[in-house]
Amino acid sequence: MNKLLIVSACLIGFNCKYSGGNNRYEPLVEAFKKGKVIPVCPEQLGGLPTPRPPAKILGKDGKDVLSGTAKVLTVKGTPKDVTKNFLKGAYETLYVVELLKDKVIACILKEKSPSCGVKKIYKFEVDQLKDGMGVTAALLKEKRFKIISSEDKKDIEKIIEELG
Ligand code: SF4
Repeated sequence: MNKLLIVSACLIGFNCKYSGGNNRYEPLVEAFKKGKVIPVCPEQLGGLPTPRPPAKILGKDGKDVLSGTAKVLTVKGTPKDVTKNFLKGAYETLYVVELLKDKVIACILKEKSPSCGVKKIYKFEVDQLKDGMGVTAALLKEKRFKIISSEDKKDIEKIIEELG
C-alpha cells in the first residue's frame, strides 16, 4: 500500500506562514518529491490570507478552542477574533486526513504554531512559550491520528524510512 504523511505545508517550502515565508525542511521536501507527502496549511484552509497578522490562543490551548472555552485573536494592530478561521482550518485538515486514513501513517506538524503546534505554543500576553497544542494538532490528536512535532527530527527520520 502507498503510505503517506500529512505535513504542515510550510515545512515543504510553501510560503504560507503568517509572514509570507516558510519553514522548509529538506528531508520532508525529498519525501514530497517522491509523492509521499500531502501538504496542508490549516490557516489558509480556514480562509485566512497570506501574509496575515500573527495570532495567538487566548486561554489554555487548542483543546480549549475546540471545546469553546478559549479563542484565537490576532496580536498585531486591532485584535480580531479569528477563532472561526482556526476551527474551519482544523476541520478541513481533518477532512483530508480522514479521506486518506487508510494510507496516512502520521501527521508532521510545525511546532509552536497556534494551529500546528504539537507540544508548545506561545503565551498570549508575552512572547514566551508554554506547554500546549495548536487547534489543528489538538483535533487530530483527539481523533487519534499519530502526530509528530517538526522538532522531533529522529521521529521524522524514522517515519520517512517507514514510507519505503
Ligand atoms: S504552521 Fe501550520 S498554519 Fe502555520 S503556516 Fe505552517 S502549515 Fe500553515
